[in-house]
This record gives sequence, structure tokens and C-alpha cells, in this order.
Amino acid sequence: MEKIATICVYCGCGCGLFLHVEDGRIVGASPSPAHPVSRGRLCVKGWLAADFVHHPDRLKTPLVRKGGRMVRGSWDEVLSLTARRFKEIREESGPDALAVLTSAKGTNEENYLLAKLARAALKTNNVDHVARLCHAPSVAGLGFALGSGGMTNPIRSLLSSGAILVTGSNTTEQHPLVAAHILEAQSRGATLIVVDPRRTQMAQLADIHLAPRLGTDVSWTNGILNLIIDLGLVDEDFIIKRTEGFSALKDLVVQYTPVEVERITGIPSGDLEKAAVAFGEADRAAVVYAMGTTQHSCGTDNVLALANLVLATGNVGRDGTGIYPLRGHQNVQGACDMGALPSVYPGYQKVEDPAARERMEAAWGTDLPAEPGLTAVEMMEAAEEGRLKGVYISGENPMISYPDRDQVMRALSSLEFLAVADIFPTETTALADVVLPVASFAEKDGTFTSTERRVQRVRRAASPPGEARPEVEVAADLLRRLGVDADYASPEEVMAEISSVTPSYGGISYQRLGISGLSWPCPSRDHPGTEILHQGSFPIGRGRFSAVEQQELAEDLDYPLLLTTGRSLFHFHTGTMTRRTHLLDRERPKAAVDINPADAAALGVRSGTMVVVESATGSLEIEARLTEEVPVGTVYIPFHFAEAPANQLTARTLDPTSKIPGLKRTPVRIRRAE
Ligand code: SF4
Repeated sequence: MEKIATICVYCGCGCGLFLHVEDGRIVGASPSPAHPVSRGRLCVKGWLAADFVHHPDRLKTPLVRKGGRMVRGSWDEVLSLTARRFKEIREESGPDALAVLTSAKGTNEENYLLAKLARAALKTNNVDHVARLCHAPSVAGLGFALGSGGMTNPIRSLLSSGAILVTGSNTTEQHPLVAAHILEAQSRGATLIVVDPRRTQMAQLADIHLAPRLGTDVSWTNGILNLIIDLGLVDEDFIIKRTEGFSALKDLVVQYTPVEVERITGIPSGDLEKAAVAFGEADRAAVVYAMGTTQHSCGTDNVLALANLVLATGNVGRDGTGIYPLRGHQNVQGACDMGALPSVYPGYQKVEDPAARERMEAAWGTDLPAEPGLTAVEMMEAAEEGRLKGVYISGENPMISYPDRDQVMRALSSLEFLAVADIFPTETTALADVVLPVASFAEKDGTFTSTERRVQRVRRAASPPGEARPEVEVAADLLRRLGVDADYASPEEVMAEISSVTPSYGGISYQRLGISGLSWPCPSRDHPGTEILHQGSFPIGRGRFSAVEQQELAEDLDYPLLLTTGRSLFHFHTGTMTRRTHLLDRERPKAAVDINPADAAALGVRSGTMVVVESATGSLEIEARLTEEVPVGTVYIPFHFAEAPANQLTARTLDPTSKIPGLKRTPVRIRRAE
């Protein structure tokens, strides 16, 4: 049996694991003891990471729609058709009638080439991916406050923290190996503060649990900062030497008294004070957050408020401090780094910056569009309105993961041409004109970049099934068919090009990525990589405070409950892989809506009762599950399940800065099903 060292395909922790291969088949996975995050451990998804790889549902041949039916085609046929239809649409309607959605499950090399496909071949900046639905506010908010949207410290730095504030993160279920580090720090004496409306396992393990009303994050964060200022616990030296804008913030947060914060958030003022003292008094404190913070129509404000907290307390640039935006997918960080975003090239070089554009035009040997493109949710609106006509989707399933599912269905159905690359049939491939079968993570070479900015090698352990190909080959083939030079002999050659155009990846090469990888920025071949950002300075000079205020939260008497959505330990995203992993699906085979027993009593509902959940956007029928994990007035649905898709209910209300939809707070009502 051969053991191939690679990286887990699920969450952003980026655990190192071995795939066990016997006679060309993957028969198991085990953790890498030497890997800096895994340290000999994996969560249940990691142990089962390769179980879906040989599943009989795998897409094995290219498919093309003929006479309303999907039939088998050759690679040459489907790629010729795709290139021809994209050219025709570009000639008839202009380049911005085209778009590419890349995949945070794809490698850096695939994301780079697909973003290049959009910009250099199709001539549009309409390129985006699932980061729009998870950490676009981190890219915008931390980018503004600190000069980089990346996690400031490596995961293991949490072991040195004296206080850890975790908010909007169901860490034990979504980032189990980060949770393991946090709980290890707690066992060494760190105070664990968890802020979450739900009583998650993390909240139950916390020393202090604050349960705010949904959508009130700016209030409690400003309230904690106000108390820290009052108690004289700010780091004045750090503020004076390394930041700007503190006095305006100080003038603002004075309004967020404990009493006022209790009125807005429901957090008892005494608990808020305990949290402020614990965080403010710690010599090294860290903030960890995830989508419970970002997936709001004020997601960027939420991130800016957290950045204020770490800046005011001088918790930046040292071991044990920092701010940790936990990325959901294993390569969502890398997809952002590769410029799979409508406003930036690789390395976050702005498309609107003429100097950056000139550099990329010289590197790619072609003119590039200057205006930022459409974001993912804007693409759906443009498609429904007929402005967007041709789309390439790589490994995403917007039919389940995007807000307002009915609208996504109308949008994708109204396209003139839709190409979808994936490893399994999905609700989105069902709408495609061509389906491109591609290799899974276990069947290709490349790199992933984890949530801690660690660029790591992904290695081929088995052959793709049937005629499936690594998408790096598919993207290069399409580039050539659309007139762009793309003669890459291997993914390694693509990485060589990435490092030549991406300053923060300048020193990254396959030879240098051992078992631990390298953390960016790594600007040159002799640079050791950067585990802790902002040690002596910020890339923007001084750290910037922002005086952010709590937004007004509209109440809707027709929809008196608030729905929040999330994930389960046993499933990942739209369930494409985990629902085909028997042991994971056995643990959580179906969706349910979590309702507090007090709300359930008022509705006349028990555990197991079928209910109809309705919002202004849509409705769905689902089984009720009674639990005190959700507070009175709030209900919760995991979004993995196509048969009860939570995003049937969510709306497209966007954060004005980052354009993330407010998925985490939807007014709903519930009644017993007929
Ligand atoms: Fe994979 Fe994340 Fe689990 Fe690690 S913590 S094994 S990366 S799912």
C-alpha cells in the first residue's frame, strides 16, 4: 500500500493527510503527524476525506444537451462548442455578457487559469466564487483596517493566547482542528469567550457565553470596546505609534453603554463586562470569527468593529494575538489570492490600477478590461435580466448555496449557454448545456492555500474516473481555443507563472513546499514565508480604526421569527461529497429546523412534526427538531440538503461594500404542514 501526502478537501484548516492507495484505488486516509495543524489528528470528515472519490455517481464522460436531453459527447465536441458559444455571445452582446464562477474547492492553479480565462480570453472581469458568500467582508474590512484580508497569525499561535473571543463560528463543527487548538489553549489557562445566538458546543464549553440577538454584532463589539476604554485597558502606545482614527471611534463607542447594549442585543450587562475585562486584561488576546459574522447585510461593519477591538488593545503582530477569519472551503483563501474576484488580479492587485493592469497585460500578452466585474449574486440578477448570457461554472452549486433559490433557477435557466465542470451531478449541472467531468482533489496535482495563508501541495493519488480530466487541463485547453497562449506542461508550470505575477507568492515553488508548505507573503526564493503578519508595520502604513454604528434592524410582524443557517459537522457545503460518504450521511441523513421548545409549544409543534417555514422570499416543508440550542425567537436550518434547501428562504439583501448577502438573518414564520 502506498501513502500519498496531500491536503484535506473540506474546511480551511488545511490539515495534512495521507491517502492510502492499493491497486490504484484509494482505500483510506490517515493524519500526518508532522503537519503543523493536523499534528496526528483529523476530524471525522478528514478521516473519511476520500470515501466519495470512487463513488459510482462520479461524472465520467463529457455531456452535451441535445434535443433537451444530456447525451454523451467527446471532449473535443464540448470544448469546441463552449469556445464557439462564448465567442458568439461576446461578438453579439459584448464581453460583459459572459462570466466565470471558479471553485474554492479547486486548486490555486485551476483558479488562476479560470480567472485568466475570464480576463484574458473572454475579456471580462465578471469572475467570482464562493468567497462572495463567506469572506468578502473580511477581504474588504480587514483589507481596509490592516491592509490584508488574510488571517494574521497561524492557527497554532492560538496556543499562546490568554483570551480568545470566538464569534459567529460553530468552531467544533466547522473548523474542528482550530477548535482543538482553542480548547487546548483554554486548558492551559486562556479564557474562552464565545459570542453566538445559538448554544453551540463551543458556547457550552466557553468560560463566558454571550448570546446576542441576530444582527446586533456591531453593538456588542462597540460595547466591549467602550468598557475596555473606560477600564483603561487599551494599548495607548500601540494606538499612538501604529494606528489612526482612534479619537472618532472613541467618541462614537461612548454611546454603547452596557445598558444600551443590553437593550439592543439582549446580552446582560454584567456578562458584557466580564467579557470586556477578560479580553482587555489578557496580555495576548485573539479574535476568531467565521460566517456568523460576515454573512450579514452589515458584514463589513461587523469585521471592521472586530478589527477595532484588536487594534485598540494592541493585539496584532505578536504570537498569541491577532484576528482569525476562518475560511470555510479548503481553498477559498487561495481562490481569492489567485484573483478569482471581480476587482482584483492575483495578489489583490486592483484591476482599476493602471500600473497593475499594465503589468498583467504584459505578463499575459493581451489587453485586459479596466472596469471591475459583477459579483456572484449580481451575476444571477444580470442573468435574469438578460444582461448575462453565457457562464462557465466550476465546481459550484449555486442552486443550493446561493440566496433566493427560485431566482437562481430563473437566472441559470435563462442563460443562452451554461457550461458546468464538476465531479458529481448536481442541481446546477442539471441546468447546463455542457457538463465537463473533472478530477477530484485526490486525482490531481496542485496547491491549496489554507485559512492561515499556508500554501500546500496537493498530490495525485489515483487516476480520474473514465474520461474525467484535471480542470487545469480543461482551462488551458479552453484558453488555447479562445486564442490565448496556454502551453503548460504541468500544474507546476502554472505555479511558476503564478509566482511571477503575484508578489506575495513570488518565492513559492513546488520544490519549496515540503510537508508544512509556506505562508504568504513569501516574496522571494530565499524568503522563509510569513506566519505572523503586521509585526512591525502594516502594508498600509498605519492600522485604521473605523467608527462603525449599529444598523437599524427592521422588524416584520408577518414574519416574527428569525432564521439563521449553517452547517453540520457531518456535511460540507451543498453535500455533493459528504452526502455520498456513507458514514457521514448516516450521522445526519436529513434536514430539520431547530426550534426552541417555548416557540414550538406556541406553534403546537413537537420534534418530528412536519412544518412549513415561510419567508418573504419563499417557503419549504421540513421536519421540526426541538432544542434549547436556539434561543426563543430564533430558528436554525443547515443548508446542505437539496430536499429542504434553506436558501429557498433567504433573500438577496447585500452588504453595500462587500456585496455578501445577509444569509444569517431572515425573518420567517412557521406553521404545521397540512
Ligand atoms: Fe479536514 Fe477541516 Fe477536518 Fe482538518 S478540520 S480534517 S481540514 S475538515
